[in-house]
Amino acid sequence: MAKKDIDWGNIGFGYMKTDKRYVSNYKDGAWDSGAMISDDQITISECACVLQYAQTVFEGLKAYTTEDGRVVCFRPDLNAERMMDSAARLEMPQFPKERFIEAVVQTVRENIDYVPPYGSGATLYVRPFMFGSNAVIGVKPAEEYQFRVFCTPVGPYFKGGVKPITIRVCDFDRAAPHGTGHIKAGLNYAMSLHAIVDAHNKGFEENMYLDPATRTKVEETGGANFLFVTKDNKIVTPKSNSILPSITRRSLVSVAKDYLGLEVEEREVFFDEISDFVECGLCGTAAVISPVGCVNDHGREIKFANGCDEMGPIITKLRETLTGIQMGHIEAPEGWIKEIK
Ligand SMILES: *Cc1c(COP(=O)(O)O)cnc(C)c1O
Repeated sequence: MAKKDIDWGNIGFGYMKTDKRYVSNYKDGAWDSGAMISDDQITISECACVLQYAQTVFEGLKAYTTEDGRVVCFRPDLNAERMMDSAARLEMPQFPKERFIEAVVQTVRENIDYVPPYGSGATLYVRPFMFGSNAVIGVKPAEEYQFRVFCTPVGPYFKGGVKPITIRVCDFDRAAPHGTGHIKAGLNYAMSLHAIVDAHNKGFEENMYLDPATRTKVEETGGANFLFVTKDNKIVTPKSNSILPSITRRSLVSVAKDYLGLEVEEREVFFDEISDFVECGLCGTAAVISPVGCVNDHGREIKFANGCDEMGPIITKLRETLTGIQMGHIEAPEGWIKEIK
């Protein structure tokens, strides 16, 4: 076994097929024992529930090499729990938590030569997902499902330095008031595609979605939660039942409180108050936290005083502390790091 011959410093965020993936099928009310397979292709009915009615949920996490050469992943138990919540909301069977974690571990272990080396900035992105696989023409949940985990090496998120991005307030909604915004489902992404293409066409890197009921409160972007910093170094992060509970955001909140001694408020955040904040970041697995320099509200620019041109000091500190925990330079809270090898 030897590391694959990949130019680790220069891979982007694209799919690269690896050797093995984990598959378990659900039929007659039970999950089978599951197995690692080589075939990356899936053959299902043209009328599969996932293809007709988008009955599918997913997760995303990273495996990476620490400074002392261990291969680990970050809080996979929370991905397992979140996927159970997502599945329940779409009337899908739940894949048991312990089996989910084991499937992730096994997938990484059997693709270990694809785990980028320490210091490359690259990681192995792990994608567990589940879909309704049998033919369903009348609208109802499927009876058969597949749970699958594949992985793909991805490059460093911040290649050639971090530049705060400009985002726009979006006139489309990503979630309905009592809809599915809080679960990790492909359907939330399908409906965000037009909004993101439109944003890019107009020169913005992301969309800031407001709450769909009143359009007065900040929700999140298409794939990351917001975290703001006040003038007196308090962390403020939006609370809403239509945003996706980001594991990165929850971890950064713990880091802010327990490692940096910062005060944190998880509460409704009105759009009108964001001009009072001095830093803004987007939290998600891919970037950990990436800085927002400016929000464009239909032509009016709101700039974050301490984070327009470069990443602000508090977000930098949060990011360094969490990546330090992930990479093993800083002691992790109990249970945060799952060792593969
Ligand atoms: C996955 C996701 C996030 C980020 O969650 P992490 O667990 O931190 O990766 C945020 N918002 C949405 C809509 C997502 O799908």
